[in-house]
Amino acid sequence: MATTITSECINCGACEPECPNTAIYAGGVPWELNGAPGPAIAQDIYYIVPSKCTECVGFHDHEACAAVCPVDCCIPDPANLESEGVLLARARELHPETTFPDDAPSRFRKEATGAEAPAANGAAVASAPAPKPAPATTAAPKAAAVAPAASAATSTTSAEFNPLAWEVPVICKDCNEPWTIPYRLFEKGVVFHCPSCSGSYVPKTAMYRAVKETFEGFYSRRRAEREAFERKRAREAAAFEAKQAAEMEAFKQKLEALAHSMKPAGKLVRPTGIASMFT
Ligand code: SF4
Ligand code: SF4
Repeated sequence: MATTITSECINCGACEPECPNTAIYAGGVPWELNGAPGPAIAQDIYYIVPSKCTECVGFHDHEACAAVCPVDCCIPDPANLESEGVLLARARELHPETTFPDDAPSRFRKEATGAEAPAANGAAVASAPAPKPAPATTAAPKAAAVAPAASAATSTTSAEFNPLAWEVPVICKDCNEPWTIPYRLFEKGVVFHCPSCSGSYVPKTAMYRAVKETFEGFYSRRRAEREAFERKRAREAAAFEAKQAAEMEAFKQKLEALAHSMKPAGKLVRPTGIASMFT
């Protein structure tokens, strides 16, 4: 079954460079095969030419376009069922210069082993049941899982209460190298490129949600704890000030009482001479 793009496509363009068969085109752009043109299949969204799609059989053990699509709109086309043999034959026809062994990378073989190809966010790529069993392959899936950002990134003073100061750690699906994307730019559907190999990295909806929830969960708890601490500190400061003021008042009263208790005994003696000038 060829892969198809649904109307949920947001035209981010991330899938097009991933296709090993140049089967993906922007809406309205005519496709071509060996110099022969064909009319655009879709006008407003990206589309896949079924006769050029091998579901990545021959190249990957998963559909490369589905792995990068941020809105999961690259799906198997139930109206276009095709076997692994047909797809491998198509790969050989499209790439006569390349030798594809019978056990070339294929999602079918992977599904037969019970392991599903992970998408860029670690979620399983939508796929049809394997039409036939095949020998297991040792090909490892390339997954770009979102790391727990807050725990993996380095804390800075500005990041103390500001999530926008963070860099989200990611792993390149192509070269497996780690790199980072500023959290303030980490949006679903935005195409980023690995600084090591220039491979694309497009946060999918689930990835974006996971990162956002990780940050919001961490910072909302942190802010709540800080606010509770500030309120407690303000209450304690007010109580301390009130205690100090009360003590000061008590001290004044004590001094007055002391003055009364120290009143000298004896007759009134009026000052005379220079001393009378100060009374
Ligand atoms: S499944 Fe693979 S071959 Fe088919 S359009 Fe997507 S990337 Fe291209
Ligand atoms: S990656 Fe998905 S949303 Fe982006 S252009 Fe391709 S099909 Fe459309």
